[in-house]
Amino acid sequence: MNDKQLINVFWFRRDLRLYDNTGLDAALKDHLPVLPLFIFDENIISDLTVTDARISFIYDSLAAVNKELTKLGSSLCVKKGEPGEIFEELSESYKIQTVFANRDYEPYAIERDQKVSSLLKKKGTGFLSFKDQVIFEEKEILNSEGKAFTVFTSYKNRWIEKYSQVIKPLSSGRPRNNFIKSSFRFPSLKETGFEKSDIRVKKYDLSCIEDYDKFRDYPAEDKTTRLGPYLRFGTVSIRYIAQIAAERNRVFLGELIWREFFMQIIYNFPGVVTNNFRARYNNIIWRNNESEFLKWCKGETGYRLVDAGMRQMNETGYMHNRVRMVVASFLCKHLLTDWRFGEAYFAEKLNDYELSSNNGNWQWAAGTGCDAAPYFRIFNPEIQAMKFDKDDVYTSRWLGAGYKVPQIVDHAPARERALQAYRSALQ
Ligand code: FAD
Repeated sequence: MNDKQLINVFWFRRDLRLYDNTGLDAALKDHLPVLPLFIFDENIISDLTVTDARISFIYDSLAAVNKELTKLGSSLCVKKGEPGEIFEELSESYKIQTVFANRDYEPYAIERDQKVSSLLKKKGTGFLSFKDQVIFEEKEILNSEGKAFTVFTSYKNRWIEKYSQVIKPLSSGRPRNNFIKSSFRFPSLKETGFEKSDIRVKKYDLSCIEDYDKFRDYPAEDKTTRLGPYLRFGTVSIRYIAQIAAERNRVFLGELIWREFFMQIIYNFPGVVTNNFRARYNNIIWRNNESEFLKWCKGETGYRLVDAGMRQMNETGYMHNRVRMVVASFLCKHLLTDWRFGEAYFAEKLNDYELSSNNGNWQWAAGTGCDAAPYFRIFNPEIQAMKFDKDDVYTSRWLGAGYKVPQIVDHAPARERALQAYRSALQ
């Protein structure tokens, strides 16, 4: 006799909220009770340090979701392991009709979902995925030849045109309470294999949006939204944020469009994860000097803005965008170090780490990307500091009074060396 309860599952991944969540809303509309599930995916978390701040952020977000679910007479089922195995395990207790989830465009996630979907199919369980973390996904914004855009401005224009045609009211109010009545035990952070990080993710702040274009380039002002981790893990809805952006500040909207631009790049050109977008830069002979790289990581290059940025990131898991551009350019050009080293270091440290944006921006800085800074435009870190932190407010904040570090390279010869290396590669 089969007495397993017939249910649907909603699998939370990068969408840790109950409100305006496309996949969850679809699951709740179906007639079967919905089991809300989160999996600490061992394939993703196994390389992280035990005090990783992103895990603490995810954990707190899950606790908040669980609290809301408890009020609805339900609870979050939290598991740790390999997703396929977790679904095998759940299928022993329930008869799962369909697993609902929101789409993720990173190569690992696409492969994982394909595997899980075919495994479920063998069990007679469906797998439905939805667009949730972007306004436009995959191949929704294409050029007149039906191909993915590789130039940002054209992509942005088409995005804005299409946005005005599709804009819909947000799904409002509380989610329909069709959750399974359950009381799963919510694990401690320790049981997930992690400990609380000393680094706290700053709460996002939308009050800067009106004047975003005036202040966003000045790191001392700290007047950007800090939405990164919230968008990354979906604790806020991009539809809500995009609506505010469209109403209040077009420059800010443009930044959200950069995020989607790089997501469609990684989806349509997954090779960029390991390769230069432009193969003609494959012949650059990087110096990859290890001791210089370590100095860069620690913020000991002797260039105030570079060192302040790296120290800000090491201490807080965040670095201002203007400074990210300068430190990335410095690593690739002044130190002639392969962008992949810098990208990996950022991936380890940034609370808002996002594969597509990190990769896209690093390739932009290195000049190897789809719509990259031309290789011969090399930021002078001292001029950048004079322009964007002229009173040394930002650098003093992170370097302190006793900062005295010799410069590891001189700007002019390092610049010349970079130009030579790029020119030779292009010959
Ligand atoms: P705001 O300035 O308030 O912007 C709001 C949101 O728009 C951001 O949270 C982000 O989702 C998006 N956004 C803004 N600028 C960009 C951009 N240039 N590219 C893509 N999306 C953008 N952003 C990440 O989200 N994850 C990364 O791993 C990441 N790595 C970067 C690496 C380098 C070398 C550089 C130069 C930039 C990187 N960025 C990355 C982009 C940008 O620096 C951050 O999104 C921004 O600084 C985060 O601060 P905020 O949340 O206050 O952003």
